Amino acid sequence: MKITIDAKFDVGDKVYTVVNREYWERTKCLACEGTGKVLLLDNTYYACPNCNGHKTVATSKRTVWDYIDAESIDGIMIKKCNNKYKYSYDIYCEMFEEEDLFLSDGDAQAECNKRNENTIFTY
Ligand SMILES: [Zn+2]
Repeated sequence: MKITIDAKFDVGDKVYTVVNREYWERTKCLACEGTGKVLLLDNTYYACPNCNGHKTVATSKRTVWDYIDAESIDGIMIKKCNNKYKYSYDIYCEMFEEEDLFLSDGDAQAECNKRNENTIFTY
């Protein structure tokens, strides 16, 4: 049996990987007005119980698309299902899909910009 496959990338190609990152946005704690302290009736200050003295509280989770600088593809995994091929690329023992890999940082950034237009906020 002979199999001929056209893959978008080859082992050894340097690619930029688009990934999503999640982080919590923090806003000023309203309970202590951002001081991190609360004044008790005996005129002593304690760490604010709402923000634990951090002055801010986590208010929303944000998903942002960003890319990882060029790394070398270590391997290719190809699955054939219903006469369609699906390609996954091994970079440092982590598998990435073809649509997340780009040969230039400009293309990776353009894809990030496109995906970030639909940034997801969770409150
Ligand atoms: Zn506070």
